[in-house]
Amino acid sequence: MFLRIDKLQAELPAPKRRDPNAAAALQELLGGKYGEMSTLNNYMFQSFNFRSKEKLRPFYNLVASITAEELGHVELVSNGVAMLNNGPDSDLDETGGGDITGAPFEEMKDIRLAASFLSGGGGAMPMNSNGNPWNMDFVTTTGNVVLDLLHNFHLECGARLHKLRVYETLSDPTGREVCGYLLVRGSVHAHAYALALKQITGVAIEQMLPTPNINLGQIPECAKYLEEGSHRRLYTFSPNDYKEMAGIWGNGEMALPGDPAGELTVVDGAPEGGKIHQLTGVPSAFTPDYAPEEMFEIAEQLYKKSR
Ligand code: MN
Ligand code: MN
Repeated sequence: MFLRIDKLQAELPAPKRRDPNAAAALQELLGGKYGEMSTLNNYMFQSFNFRSKEKLRPFYNLVASITAEELGHVELVSNGVAMLNNGPDSDLDETGGGDITGAPFEEMKDIRLAASFLSGGGGAMPMNSNGNPWNMDFVTTTGNVVLDLLHNFHLECGARLHKLRVYETLSDPTGREVCGYLLVRGSVHAHAYALALKQITGVAIEQMLPTPNINLGQIPECAKYLEEGSHRRLYTFSPNDYKEMAGIWGNGEMALPGDPAGELTVVDGAPEGGKIHQLTGVPSAFTPDYAPEEMFEIAEQLYKKSR
């Protein structure tokens, strides 16, 4: 089962301006073939379907705990998309509802993913940067542990390539931070699957890393995560379970040669994470709705009753 924590896995800077086309680019990392929906659902269903869980616990634990991290990545990218559609942080919700007869959102007919505003109200959806829906055919769960781990290794390297390309299209700090954080974590996952394959097959697949061949140290947004050692950590995302993956991620294994040196470690629980930004209420777009004051008042009364 899953627990939920009301935070993001990383602290994101607020956008400097509203940029729906940057949000559209970031959608590739959510619902593209190599996006977070794909990593989440590959590992999630592999972990559900895993045979001989007790006997193969270190391998099962690795896939199971990374599943939980990927769900948090879906959340992180989704928040990044919504923040880029929203613009700079503001406590000032639009009041009243404005005049909807004057085409207040005329500019939205020209954005690349018009449906993200017209249908989704500026939120994220499980689709790629062209608005094509994420689909189940991106999931591989064969029941063969080596084949599934190989697929996962390929998926993490592919995700890294896509993150680098999206990063190269973005100038806004929010989208760049999402890419920077996920590049470090994706590097951990590629490394982890390589080490798991090495344990089973004896082949030192981690020597193929980094693929694609760019060092994270060259990316400013990755620097603080490398400095704090994120590239050496795998989290259990559980109060008590999944610790046994330390036999794969640990056990004297070291950081990749291009990254800051040190031993790989399994950390119980979740990273400290960062706050979820407030999205501005825009009643003229009916988000959350026309005349929100009444809803806020009702919510406040309910909140008081719960204390
Ligand atoms: Mn991910
Ligand atoms: Mn990953």
